[in-house]
Amino acid sequence: MATKSIPFSKEEIEKIIEKFPTPFHIYDEKAIRENARRFKKAFEWNEGFKEYFAIKATPNPYLMKILREEGFGIDCSSEAELELAKKVGMSGEEIMLTSNDTPASEFSAAKDLGAIINLDDISHIEYLEKNVGLPETICMRYNPGNLKKGNLIIGRPEEAKYGFTRDQIIEGYRILKNKGVKKFGIHTMVASNELDPDYFIETAEILFSLIAEVHEKAGVKISFANLGGGVGIPYKPEEKAVDLEYVSAGIQKLYKQKIAGNGLAPLKLFFELGRAITGPYGYLVAKVLHIKKTYKQFAGLDASMVNLMRPGMYGAYHHITVVGKESEPHNQKYDVTGSLCENNDKFAIDRMLPEVEPGDIVVIHDAGAHGHAMGFNYNGKLKSAELLLRENGEVVQIRRAETIEDYFATLDFSGLKDFEV
Ligand SMILES: *Cc1c(COP(=O)(O)O)cnc(C)c1O
Repeated sequence: MATKSIPFSKEEIEKIIEKFPTPFHIYDEKAIRENARRFKKAFEWNEGFKEYFAIKATPNPYLMKILREEGFGIDCSSEAELELAKKVGMSGEEIMLTSNDTPASEFSAAKDLGAIINLDDISHIEYLEKNVGLPETICMRYNPGNLKKGNLIIGRPEEAKYGFTRDQIIEGYRILKNKGVKKFGIHTMVASNELDPDYFIETAEILFSLIAEVHEKAGVKISFANLGGGVGIPYKPEEKAVDLEYVSAGIQKLYKQKIAGNGLAPLKLFFELGRAITGPYGYLVAKVLHIKKTYKQFAGLDASMVNLMRPGMYGAYHHITVVGKESEPHNQKYDVTGSLCENNDKFAIDRMLPEVEPGDIVVIHDAGAHGHAMGFNYNGKLKSAELLLRENGEVVQIRRAETIEDYFATLDFSGLKDFEV
């Protein structure tokens, strides 16, 4: 049976739990760094290659500091994310703002930081100019419409709310050139959690053709192409990770033909991956509170959708290891549940596991991206802590758990006494 491993033994995780009660997320620094290096190495043929970590996946400054040290930039899509970049000490072209339906305050915060602004719509050119002024460098997001199939999470491109049409983007470069913008980028993102490596090569091909067309029709030479995020991870043990070396080789071949071959080099390539950078290297650790047997068998955890909502929201598969019982027969069928008053609050449905008892430690895999970050406070549930397993084996807390005081921080009870009803 295909399985997944964890970077700590039962004894080690028990020791961590003595200090930091469950539930918590724990990230594996060594694995994150190795993965980052491998990704960068795969694209080292491209001068100026940069990955902008999509910070929404795991917005923790400690992780961002590690990734920055590995040469990554940051991809932001809100004011708070820009502020986080600033607090990590990032500025200028280390930061990219890829947002949509963008408020002026966000454009302004990005411009103050010298970030690369990636526009989502042709009307934003005028909006940006009027509200904050045009920067010297601008990127625009292309929506390929029916040129691209799309995939399950993000949907068909022509239905998606993102990006410019082909005609609009060419017009956009003309307008911006006339307004004195000096440096141009292009961006697209049409996949989410996609495991087919050819998908990304095809996306590059679409962008490279468009870059040639922009050069021809608008007289603009594009300096960088951001291929977006969306590289999937093998949530199921039998799935295969996207082979980044294969993707890189495919893109390199197209680069030679369509970019270098047409006098359009140099073109820097960027990505803004989130999931594929930290996803597999983060774990949600929880304990079994109750075993319940009715029409089905339920293993109730001390974690809930608040800690990881992907299974409840998308029906996503997350592998589950019952620590210390890895080699026992997986001959019991459970729904693994959280405690929200919401029947979707299940980490797994009809999952075959070893016999589980209250007190067992459960590790939910691939929770390192779009896990803790998507948490919410529904039902008065509090968000859990984030821990980092350092390369030397030490465990440090990189975000404390929320307290009841945090939950009530936005309410002022002092007015209640005089509040007439
Ligand atoms: C969400 C998002 C990403 C990151 O997506 P992953 O699936 O985590 O790689 C990158 N860019 C944009 C614009 C996004 O919205």
